Amino acid sequence: MRVLIVEDDSILQDSLTRTMRSAGHATDTAADGETALGLLRGGGFDLVLLDLGLPRLDGLQVLRQARETGCRTPVLILTARDGVEDRVKGLDLGADDYLVKPFSLAELEARARALLRRGQAATPLLSCGALTYDTVGRRATLAGEALELSLREVSVLEALLFRQGKVVSKDQLIESLCGYGEELSANAIEVYVHRLRKKLEPGGVTLRTLRGLGYLMDKA
Ligand code: CA
Repeated sequence: MRVLIVEDDSILQDSLTRTMRSAGHATDTAADGETALGLLRGGGFDLVLLDLGLPRLDGLQVLRQARETGCRTPVLILTARDGVEDRVKGLDLGADDYLVKPFSLAELEARARALLRRGQAATPLLSCGALTYDTVGRRATLAGEALELSLREVSVLEALLFRQGKVVSKDQLIESLCGYGEELSANAIEVYVHRLRKKLEPGGVTLRTLRGLGYLMDKA
C-alpha cells in the first residue's frame, strides 16, 4: 500500500512516516498543500493522511480540489483539538475519517488500517499457527480460545503479527506503542513481550529474542 503523508510539522511527519513504514506501507510526504495536490493528481495512493493547517494551500482546500478532480483515495484528516468546524467541513468535503491531535500512533495505525481495508477484499483476520487475530475487533484467539490481553499486549501482538517471520526492533515496538509525549522504556517493552510470549507459547507460537536486533514472531 502507498500512503501520502501531508504534514508541515517535520517531527510529526517523521513519526507518521515511520509508523506507516513499519506497518509495511510505502510512503510519500508533502509539507505544504500545493505539493500535496500535485502528488495526489499523479495518483497511485491508497491512503492520504492530511493535516489541515498547511502552508500555501490549507488541508481543506487540498481535499476540495482533489475530490473535485475525481480523486477517490481515502483521506484521514489530522486536526487540532479545537478544530470542530474544520472537522465537520472536512467530512462534508469527502474526508473518510479524522483524528484529533495529539493521537496515539497505535490509534493512527488502526484507523489507517480500517481505511485501507475499504474497497479491498482482504480478510480482516491474520493468523500465525494456532493464533488468529481479528484486526477490526482487535481480539486474539489461540487454538480457538480467546486470549486475555492488555491493550499494550495487543499493540505488541499487532506489531509483531503484521511482520511475522521478520525481525521487529525494540525501537519499532516502542514507536508503535507510544503516543506523542509518552515515554516507554526498553525495559517496559521487554516486560510486554515476556508476558505475551507466555500467553502464546502453549499454542506453539514463538516470540524469539534476537539479541541486539529485536523480536521475531513465528510458529513452532
Ligand atoms: Ca500543520
